[in-house]
Amino acid sequence: MVPGVRLVVLGKQGAGKGTQCVRLSHHYVVPHVSTGDMLRAAVKTGDEYDSKVKENMDSGELLSDDLIMEMVAERLAEPDARARGFILDGCPRTTHQAEALAALMAPTDVDVAVDIEVPTIQAMRRLASRRVCIDCGANYSVTLPPKVNWTCDVCGGEVIQREDDTEDSITRRLELYERQTAPLIDWYTKRGQLAKVNGIGSPDAVLRRVIRAVEERRSHR
Ligand code: AMP
Repeated sequence: MVPGVRLVVLGKQGAGKGTQCVRLSHHYVVPHVSTGDMLRAAVKTGDEYDSKVKENMDSGELLSDDLIMEMVAERLAEPDARARGFILDGCPRTTHQAEALAALMAPTDVDVAVDIEVPTIQAMRRLASRRVCIDCGANYSVTLPPKVNWTCDVCGGEVIQREDDTEDSITRRLELYERQTAPLIDWYTKRGQLAKVNGIGSPDAVLRRVIRAVEERRSHR
């Protein structure tokens, strides 16, 4: 079996992060820890967070670093993540979260932060056409829908457009990414932990590039 990994996956919304994270989690046999998915699940069950959380998510605003890091710390303390590692998707989003994550990992650290790069115009196009399963989160698009009538191929759930994939919210999230999340690229570069990967191409081609980048990093340590 391939060794596990502790991987942070960065990239603007629409870079194909979600798709790659699912594939990476199968390849490395580690959990896919997506803060967006965890929050959507918590909001759906309704009792854990107040309505402000959903409001902020729908409008594309970031939630507080403390709330996010508490949720992530709890998830990474579970046995599967402790034993083999994780693919962390959607966190860190701010340098403050990156510092908190490094403190959480100490005395070890994440192995690599992979930045999946795509031009903004392409990311916007992908987000506008994205459709997701409300039950399992599987990704589809207007051009690649599920086989039968917007019913998920994986679990049979309903496939819809995410409430925060509206044009206004997409624009806001991409702006926010530039302002708050792009500085993370510098943060991980300075620590010698960043690997940039070209996100253009088929999901298989991008996956191969990510795996190659991870293995190169590991072989240099
Ligand atoms: P995502 O599915 O990663 O696009 O996340 C959906 C929404 O959840 C974001 O627009 C934020 O409102 C919230 N969110 C997810 N991850 C984080 C994070 N690390 N920090 C702050 N807010 C987050």
